[in-house]
Amino acid sequence: MGSPSYPLTLDLTGRRAVVVGGGPVAARRAAALVESGALVEVIAPFVCEDLAALVATGRLVRRERDYVAGDLLEPTAAWLVHTATGDSRVDAQVAREAEAARIWCVRADDAGASTAWTPAVARGSVGTASEGLTVAVSAGGDPRRASAVRDAVLAALESGTLPVRRVRPSTSAGADGAPAGGAGGVGRVALVGGGPGAEDLITVRGRALLAAADVVVTDRLGPRGLLRTLGSDVEVVDVGKTPGNHPVSQERINELLVHHARLGRRVVRLKGGDPFVLGRGGEEAMHCLAHGVPVEVVPGVTSAVSVPAAAGIPVTHRGVAASFVVASAHEGADHVLAAAADAAPDATLVLLMGVTRLAETAAALVAAGRPSDTPVALVERGWTPEQRTTTTTLAAAAADAEAAGVRAPAVVVVGQVVALREHLGDLSGSSVTA
Ligand code: SAH
Repeated sequence: MGSPSYPLTLDLTGRRAVVVGGGPVAARRAAALVESGALVEVIAPFVCEDLAALVATGRLVRRERDYVAGDLLEPTAAWLVHTATGDSRVDAQVAREAEAARIWCVRADDAGASTAWTPAVARGSVGTASEGLTVAVSAGGDPRRASAVRDAVLAALESGTLPVRRVRPSTSAGADGAPAGGAGGVGRVALVGGGPGAEDLITVRGRALLAAADVVVTDRLGPRGLLRTLGSDVEVVDVGKTPGNHPVSQERINELLVHHARLGRRVVRLKGGDPFVLGRGGEEAMHCLAHGVPVEVVPGVTSAVSVPAAAGIPVTHRGVAASFVVASAHEGADHVLAAAADAAPDATLVLLMGVTRLAETAAALVAAGRPSDTPVALVERGWTPEQRTTTTTLAAAAADAEAAGVRAPAVVVVGQVVALREHLGDLSGSSVTA
């Protein structure tokens, strides 16, 4: 391969392709040619097991003898020949006759003496982000290097780190809510937990589904940075809630999921943290199932555990707290008290959506018997560059939060584990993707 090669994809459907040789290399080549629809003819006195199995399927023709001069032209001229006999004299003869007849020849014994080369090939799998793709890699005659690159490309496609999904025709169906039917059929909804916000705290599975999505219905929390990696044809519906302001009702979100899935689309419902931790994921799943839309859930890293961790606060710690309670503070102090009532005295209390009603909640906990000097941490915007932690006590929480200007989203941690932060400090490290 002294001069630059010329990559090309051939349509061999119904065209004669000859494989000379009966060993494992010939078997692989013959199998790939059969897959491509070529009229394959194998010329070999003996064949290995794989090739025998292929011959037994009746999908190729076998001549049970050595190669003889003229085989490439009789009964009709071949378009392509692979020679892999293990005998360089035979391979050279095949190559000479191919050259004279202007037939492309791939030589297994001597890539440098070939007139054509097969790249390392992989085809994407149906239903994944690699669907419809053929990855073919040449590495100047180094097959191992070529396969390594091919495998890396396929892996990146399927994991979503290379987000180039296939645009399927059914996704452009009308937006009138009518089922698409036909090609696409009903789509599906994946409730994907995106984690607390860092782009690399989503699961591999969640990332892959995101990369393959036609429609993404997203919250305000979660790894929103990943949205810019999506193709411009991916429909992103932002249903993000801000405290006290619900631009899109839960009912409407449920309807949206079903609507898009019924148009045959792959819908990802991207949620902050874990979909089933104070995230209304269960309601969305039930609504979809009730409307015949297949659903799957991809768990996420919940903020209830990960945001305290980012601030150096383990929710349990030997000798300090052996259990933890997660509650929403949104419904009011009574609700928090009820959640804390049955917990062990040393249990850590983790409150989500706790900023707006912090004064009320802290006062109620003290009134219910929690010591007023119980340590409290307010961890804002965990796992983002703006992460900030305010430590205080139940007695001083409201005043300190106001003085510091604490804003949602924040996780409120109540309990002795908060003191561990003095030893551990921030532990959120730096994001791999940042
Ligand atoms: N399903 C989510 C919780 C949704 S409720 C989960 O498992 O994490 C939303 C609340 O989560 C916010 O009000 C806040 O209390 C908390 N939260 C989510 N992400 C956060 C973050 N990055 N930093 C601080 N708090 C966060």
